[in-house]
Amino acid sequence: MRVVVDLSRCEGYAQCAFLAPDAFRMHGEEALMYDPDPDDAQRDRVLRAAAACPVQAILVDRLEGRPQERDVPVPAASS
Ligand code: SF4
Repeated sequence: MRVVVDLSRCEGYAQCAFLAPDAFRMHGEEALMYDPDPDDAQRDRVLRAAAACPVQAILVDRLEGRPQERDVPVPAASS
């Protein structure tokens, strides 16, 4: 599975590191380190971590053809 964390959003709350410690790890007080390709066996934990992130910084499987709502193209305004 593919994981991307938008580090510009991440506030270092560490919810993800608590819920999926094999995939997410805090480095110091605020810096998050993560595995961008965690084993599928961690899927449930990673999804729970993504759901728990207070700022929705964790994006899962966006590169595997399963777009999330934000990826849906917005139709161009007709002129
Ligand atoms: S839960 Fe979200 S905000 Fe907190 S460390 Fe993880 S990615 Fe960052």
